[in-house]
Amino acid sequence: MTTPVYENFINGHFLKNQTGDTFAVKNPATDEVIYHVEIADEFIQNAAIESAKQGFAAWSAMTPIERSRILLKAVAILRERNDELAKVEVLDTGKPWQEAECVDVETGADVIEYFAGLAPAQVGQQQMVGNDFYYTRKEPLGICAGIGAWNYPLQIACWKSGPALAAGNAVIFKPSEETPLGAIKLAEIFIEAGVPAGVFNVVQGAAEVGQWLTANPNIEKVSFTGEVGTGKKVMASAAGSLKDVTMELGGKSPLLVFDDADVSQAVSAAMLGNFYTQGEICTNCTRIYVHKNVYQQFIDELKTRTEQNIIAGDPMDPEVNLGALISKKHQELVLGYIDKGVQEGATLLTGGKALSPASAPNGYFVEPTVFVDCKDDMTIVKEEIFGPVMSVLVFDDEDDVIQRANDTHLGLAAGVFTKDIQRAHRVIHQLQAGICWINSYGNSPAEMPVGGYKQSGIGRENGIETLDHYTQTKSIYVGMSNIESPF
Ligand code: NAD
Repeated sequence: MTTPVYENFINGHFLKNQTGDTFAVKNPATDEVIYHVEIADEFIQNAAIESAKQGFAAWSAMTPIERSRILLKAVAILRERNDELAKVEVLDTGKPWQEAECVDVETGADVIEYFAGLAPAQVGQQQMVGNDFYYTRKEPLGICAGIGAWNYPLQIACWKSGPALAAGNAVIFKPSEETPLGAIKLAEIFIEAGVPAGVFNVVQGAAEVGQWLTANPNIEKVSFTGEVGTGKKVMASAAGSLKDVTMELGGKSPLLVFDDADVSQAVSAAMLGNFYTQGEICTNCTRIYVHKNVYQQFIDELKTRTEQNIIAGDPMDPEVNLGALISKKHQELVLGYIDKGVQEGATLLTGGKALSPASAPNGYFVEPTVFVDCKDDMTIVKEEIFGPVMSVLVFDDEDDVIQRANDTHLGLAAGVFTKDIQRAHRVIHQLQAGICWINSYGNSPAEMPVGGYKQSGIGRENGIETLDHYTQTKSIYVGMSNIESPF
């Protein structure tokens, strides 16, 4: 059976490359090639820039309310096609249908809707200076690049294009080479909704295509989601043309469970924050610090629920709640971390092996894995694993656990479970992380800014402030009287 070949999406339509080079995309749950994608060669790259220039001219000339109206149409189409798009995400990522069906498209659409609503409300300032005055205009940046990771492909494309387009920019988006289809679907939807051709372009490929975007002098900004190491390369390359950057990078986030917490709720949060999307979520609370008074209760319930309530298998089966990891290589990396955890002296409470469920025997599954007896200096406690692997640690003292939680170069997220309202806020205010939850974990509504402290990121996505990251301020001074000149 021949598989489809997808071309790059430039200037409102698919465009064939000249080299004929393609790459294959596999379904992580079956290990089968499901389609091929053409790589953006020089011809495509040049066409993308020309297309985005034209798109920008047309789009930025529209009023914010006209842009808003069109984007809201795209939101409606995204919602109408929820199931079709969710299926694309399941086949590309290996994540469970029960998640994609209610989260991936929905949270992407929400963000475009949010920024479509905000765009017409963005205003400049004006101020009198004597008889003269100045005013400011919020102008778009021009062409913005988006570079995506593979865990939430369509959602990432929406989160980057929503504020960029609402503010009047054109976008060239490069999805991860592991999951390239969602962004193409979004590009088609934008065209159907009435976004002018050239405003949202999709180029395909791996690091080389990303490098071209970060170095290209016609591009004013790069919004990147991916690993810390790649983020550093992207930022260094963007510095060559002084591009603005947004960096959404990795994490190794702590969850602190105090002895007055609702332990069952804390177990729910720990499981959500380690096993949802088979652990491939940047904000996951992979370091769980549990107070010694509730430690035994916590790990007993965690073990029981992990062993009884998780169903791995064909991700399209609505009963399945643990999908396949993105690739064989990533599965091996995660299993390598588990081996290292055992070698360094942590104890496996549950899990620890590759899985081969009957309904998806060739998929890249890893058992939901919990380590106990963990120490702060173990590799599994220090490094991002990006799989279903949780490390549980014990604590006794509030100040001490805050210091341990902060002892990392990462700072994406953090959480606290306690019924003491003052302790909840006191502790969370001291945790060095950009996204924090109290008696909750993982929710990320469009209204709430998200991004990392320390090496987990720069800038924010979502929330009102993000619109500012996609505009630049022009100050205009207006003279109302004769110029006094010594010349
Ligand atoms: P990655 O860094 O390997 O790749 C991300 C993207 O960068 C891909 O599109 C890739 O093709 C591209 N790329 C690779 N090298 C490049 C280069 N030199 N120049 C430009 N582009 C380049 O990350 P990944 O494996 O796709 O994603 C997993 C990582 O993403 C994890 O670390 C995770 O924590 C992080 N992540 C962060 C967030 C967040 O919002 N903070 C969200 C999702 C994922």
